[in-house]
Amino acid sequence: MTDELVRAGRALVGGVERRDYAFVVRGGTIADAGDFQVLRERARDLPARAFPADRLVVPGFVNGHSHAYQILLRGWADDLTFAAWRSDALYKVVPQLTPDDIYWIFTAAFSEMLAAGITTVAEFFYLNGAGNAHAEAALRAAEDTGIRIVFARTWMDAAYAPPQFRETIELARERTLELRERFPWANVCVAPHSLHAASHEMIRAAAAFAREHDCMMHVHVAEAPYEGEETLAKHGATPIALLDRLDALDARTIAIHAIYITEDEKRLLAERDARVIHNPMTNQYLGDGICDVMGLQGLGVTMGLGTDADVKPSLIDEMRAATLLQKVKRLDGSAFGARAAFDLGTAQGARALGVATGDLVPGNAADYLVLDASRVDPWSPDVNALVYRGEDRWVQAAFVGGARVYTGERSQLAHQAAEKLKEIAHRVIS
Ligand SMILES: [Zn+2]
Repeated sequence: MTDELVRAGRALVGGVERRDYAFVVRGGTIADAGDFQVLRERARDLPARAFPADRLVVPGFVNGHSHAYQILLRGWADDLTFAAWRSDALYKVVPQLTPDDIYWIFTAAFSEMLAAGITTVAEFFYLNGAGNAHAEAALRAAEDTGIRIVFARTWMDAAYAPPQFRETIELARERTLELRERFPWANVCVAPHSLHAASHEMIRAAAAFAREHDCMMHVHVAEAPYEGEETLAKHGATPIALLDRLDALDARTIAIHAIYITEDEKRLLAERDARVIHNPMTNQYLGDGICDVMGLQGLGVTMGLGTDADVKPSLIDEMRAATLLQKVKRLDGSAFGARAAFDLGTAQGARALGVATGDLVPGNAADYLVLDASRVDPWSPDVNALVYRGEDRWVQAAFVGGARVYTGERSQLAHQAAEKLKEIAHRVIS
C-alpha cells in the first residue's frame, strides 16, 4: 500500500456531493482532505490516483451486524417461522461445519460483501463451542479477502443451545483474550448472545470484559415480543432495563435490533449513550417487526445498519429498506429520507461500532468505493439515486485502508470460494 493523493472528480462527503474533491492517504489513513486545487500544493510529494467525474467516490459501507455463515441457508430455508428457521435450518447445518468449511463460506460471503461495497463488517460469530478453530478460520477469510472486520465474539451458555455454541464464562473469556492477542487487527470484542441465550452472570462478565479491555459489547435485544414478555415475567424488567440492571448498558453496548422496547427504554438507551444496529431486510425476511428508528434518532441514539441473516448482503438494500420501513411505520412519505439512511450505512454506522471509517475526512481509514456515476440521473442528487435506485453492481472498485480489495470483477479467490460453497451446501443440506 502506497501513500498517495486520491483525486475524485465527484464524491460524497458527509452525504453531500463535492466536485474535484481530494484526500491524502498516508499509512492507510486519510491524513488530509479538501478541494483538489488546495490539496495539490500540500501533497506535492505524493503520487496521484485520479477518478474522473463519471465515477462517484463514496465512503465504504459499514455493515454493523452479520452472521456470514447463514448464506448457506438461503434458498432452502426461506419462508419459515423464526422458530422453524432456527431449529430446522440453522441448527441442522451448524454441527456439520468444519473449520475448512467456515473458511470458504466466510471467504465467499466477504467477497460478496466487498463486491456490494461493504468495506467494514461486524461479524457476530457464535460457532465457538469447540474452541477457537472456527473463529480463526473466519478471521483468515477476512484477512485474505481484505475486508475490515469487527469480530464480535459471541458468549453463550443457555442449556437449550446446541453444544457447538455453548461455553462456560471462563472458557469464553480465555478464548476471547487469545483471539485479541493473536489478531490485533480484527477489533475482537465481546457479544453475549442475548438475554435468552446467555445467563445474567455471563452478561455481567461480558460487560466487565468490555470495560477492562476497552472494547465494545454487542448483544441481540428485543428482536421479537416474546423476549420482553419473558424477562418481564421472570425478572420484572423489560430487556433494556434488565441490561441496565446487569451493569451492561453504557457507551460500549451495541444493542442489535431493539424493536420491542418501551419509550422509557428508548430514553434509557440515549441516556447511557448505548448504540443500536438496525437490520431492516432481515427484520422483514423473518417477520420480526419495525424498529422505531426515527424515535431513537430523535433522542440522539447512535445507530447503524446490518445485513444480519445475509440473505443478500447489500448495504444499498438495507439503506433503502431503512427509509421505506420508516415511511410505512409513520404513514408519511416525508419520513426518514435518503440522506438519513445513507448516514446510518456509513458515518453513523461506523461511530456506532467505534471504528474510524465511514466518511472521506481526515482521521478515518481510507475505506472508499468507486461507483459508476453514469447510472445516476443527471438531475438527481447522488445520495437519492444511490438509496432509492442504487444497485450493488454500480460498485466498480473497493478500497480498504487505501488498498484496492475489489476490482470490479470476481477475484480468483472469490471464484474458488463460490465453487467450494456449492460443494459444502450440497453436503450439509442433503
Ligand atoms: Zn443477529
